[in-house]
Amino acid sequence: MTRPGKVVCVGRNYREHAKEMGNEVPTTPLVFLKPPSCVVASGDAIVLPNGIGRVDFEGEIGLVIGKRLRKASPAECAAGIRGVVAVNDVSARDLQKSDPQWWRAKGYDTFGPIGPERAGTPDLSALEVVSRVNGVERQRGHSRDMIFPIADLLAFITSAITLEPGDVVATGTPEGVGPLKAGDEVEIEVVGWSTVRNRVVADA
Ligand code: ZN
Repeated sequence: MTRPGKVVCVGRNYREHAKEMGNEVPTTPLVFLKPPSCVVASGDAIVLPNGIGRVDFEGEIGLVIGKRLRKASPAECAAGIRGVVAVNDVSARDLQKSDPQWWRAKGYDTFGPIGPERAGTPDLSALEVVSRVNGVERQRGHSRDMIFPIADLLAFITSAITLEPGDVVATGTPEGVGPLKAGDEVEIEVVGWSTVRNRVVADA
């Protein structure tokens, strides 16, 4: 697969998820990056590192950027989207608390499964994401329930960093996150657009 130049993520973008993690609802978007080196494709393994505690799935709606966006308006950002991907923002919860930066918690190798891109211009207010573990539905979220709408998020990101063609922006996870264990199969579907399915394995 082609790795994106960068993967920009947004934390706590659904009220119920902020609440389930014991966090306040943010007043400005909580933006962070996953390194491109953590990206894997559908069908690849998610490797659980030894001795790091709880590792969660996070199903997210991902947008693929189609043109260079710098200090762009929400409308310009919406027009600059070229496609949609399903993203699993795999997260090491204990390290997320103990490390001041989330470089490991969000950045371990294989912690960035991204599904195949479907090209097109989505209705940004009508995207739905569903997560399943071993075939059982665990999350269902809708873009209309986001705290910060997608076009506003993109504009906020481009106020500081330029988005380039091929970059992926993951827009936060709804409530229902939970831990993964070796042997699980986790599937994130952006309904009608993209699915990423991965087997979880223990580190060798
Ligand atoms: Zn996330």
